Amino acid sequence: MSLKGKLPNQIFSLALTTLDEIMGKNGTNSLLNYSKLEKFIGNYPPYNLDPEQESEDFSRLLTGIIDVLGEKGARPVLFRGGMRGFNIMREKYPSLWNLEGIEPTEQTPERLFDEFLNIQKIIVGASTQIFGDIYKLYECDEGLALENHDCYWCKGLKTNEHICFGSVGFNLGIAKWILGEYAMAEETHCCAVGDDMCRLIMYRPKA
Ligand SMILES: [Zn+2]
Ligand SMILES: [Zn+2]
Repeated sequence: MSLKGKLPNQIFSLALTTLDEIMGKNGTNSLLNYSKLEKFIGNYPPYNLDPEQESEDFSRLLTGIIDVLGEKGARPVLFRGGMRGFNIMREKYPSLWNLEGIEPTEQTPERLFDEFLNIQKIIVGASTQIFGDIYKLYECDEGLALENHDCYWCKGLKTNEHICFGSVGFNLGIAKWILGEYAMAEETHCCAVGDDMCRLIMYRPKA
């Protein structure tokens, strides 16, 4: 399935709810005004996967966050938003992402990493259903690599440094859920600085 410039409602619902938590309602409203997205004020999209939102609007929201907070100031907000977004998704809507009934178990770090790998496969599978065939997930020397070849976190953005901290936060949220204190993630390539993909590494815990 290809979305052709559309994004699921869920992305906006998560983004706006987490912005409220981070910046307060007034902060979110002034950001929406600034980004010419007034249509969302008091009118957040429902939490579902229907592809009813313009992907351009998401880019506009991200551009607004970066304009208002600066690239440096935007990073922690995007990071927190991504991580909070995953946690909301896992706590409230696990069935949408095929995560129902999955609970991390107490195991050695290596076993936990295998479990993490399996859960990433489930989530990337669900994401592929929504966003199309844009992901590559594979094991590498450092741990687990996730490539995104059509990244909505940075579409149309040009930044000085890597910017997909929402994606890092989201994936670190998954990693922390399973690996706890061992979790570590980093973006190694980013379209916003001219790379041909965004690529994350989630590190294998050191024994
Ligand atoms: Zn990106
Ligand atoms: Zn990126």
